[in-house]
Amino acid sequence: MDSIKTYLVKDNIRVYIADTTETAKTACEIHSTSKVSGILLAKTVTATAILSKLLKNKNDVLTLKIKGSNQIKSVVGIGNVKGDIKAYISNTDADEYLGLNYKNIIGPGTITIVRDFKLKEPYVGVSPIVSGELDQDLSFYYRSSEQQKTKMKLECVYENGLISSKGIFVQLLPDYTEEEKEIYDHLDLADFKDVKDPMTHYFNDLSIKSMENYDIRFQCDCSYAKIYKALITLGKEEIKNIYEKDHKIELLCEFCKKKYSFNEEELKEMVDSFEDSN
Ligand SMILES: [Zn+2]
Repeated sequence: MDSIKTYLVKDNIRVYIADTTETAKTACEIHSTSKVSGILLAKTVTATAILSKLLKNKNDVLTLKIKGSNQIKSVVGIGNVKGDIKAYISNTDADEYLGLNYKNIIGPGTITIVRDFKLKEPYVGVSPIVSGELDQDLSFYYRSSEQQKTKMKLECVYENGLISSKGIFVQLLPDYTEEEKEIYDHLDLADFKDVKDPMTHYFNDLSIKSMENYDIRFQCDCSYAKIYKALITLGKEEIKNIYEKDHKIELLCEFCKKKYSFNEEELKEMVDSFEDSN
């Protein structure tokens, strides 16, 4: 089972270590990704899982959106504090002619993080794509948009399919001491890929408090009712058109690819419901 292990180093250095290989693998398999698309999707899954753990309440939802203008126009990860993650990529078949540098593949674009607390207006933060790596851009986002000192490293191994997807997230909590800042400033996560035991490797001689472990899984929350609602938004004329010409429609959930079919009778009901409300 995939998990995120959380720690507190000294009193104010928060560390999350994620292994989301199975969740990311499920996402790559559902979307039949090429290597380039697969790596970006897997990193989005891992990042979404980590960032969702920063949510406080069980109904909060985090959406990580990467918007691009080149080979890949959109990647979306959605997660909650329970560890349910789903993800989508607009181009599942990006090719390698631009290499694996995600800035080249995505092109000029933005990273948006939406935190939906259900009761209030969602909190939306946007930051530009500036580096060649998603983890660096996310660290930049937290430092600039949220004024929180953050370092993050995402690592994927992909050879004829995803082999592993892992991440580490380090954040300095607001009450940090000079000593803790010093430790944070000297921390270099560049070698994370080859590290077997990150806590010993990076924080060996410091006091480490092991906090909670969280399970992570690929879980889509789509339903007939939600797809029905989405279909309704097409409007009366469009649905009437489908009803008269095709007599049925099949819609695909873009996150898990589950099919939802609506037959003639159901389409008729929809058209009638518009007439009733007039
Ligand atoms: Zn779904």
